[in-house]
Amino acid sequence: MKHYPYLENTKKVKDLTCGRCKKEHQDGLRLEWQVSWFRGEDEAELVCDACYTKQLEEDKIQQKKDQVRWAIEAKKEAKFWADMKKRLEAKYTVEYLTLYQWRVNGQVDLYITNKRFHVLKTNRRGDYRDMHSFLERNLT
Ligand SMILES: [Zn+2]
Repeated sequence: MKHYPYLENTKKVKDLTCGRCKKEHQDGLRLEWQVSWFRGEDEAELVCDACYTKQLEEDKIQQKKDQVRWAIEAKKEAKFWADMKKRLEAKYTVEYLTLYQWRVNGQVDLYITNKRFHVLKTNRRGDYRDMHSFLERNLT
């Protein structure tokens, strides 16, 4: 998915006043930004080559930082779920019906992303706050 604003188009232009450094330049670019899904709201900006190159470099640095941050977050998240599975499996029989629907001891389905439960025998459904104390109270 694209995130707004994003660069829709770049065109080479001659003899411009750069919108960023405010100086006159012979060569530059006209950047067309799409700022929302509505094309009528597209914005355009004139930049000189130097300002554009500088921005590309800054974007690259930012992208690298983002990638590192996402990798760390993905690792943390994976560890969180792995720990939770380990803790559950130490006490119960767990069937992973889908990534998000876990069946515990064949009695209760947990929908782990929105913290909902379904007791199969009684057809009772609801929200749980803490998975482990919920299971202790509801498994027979
Ligand atoms: Zn400039």
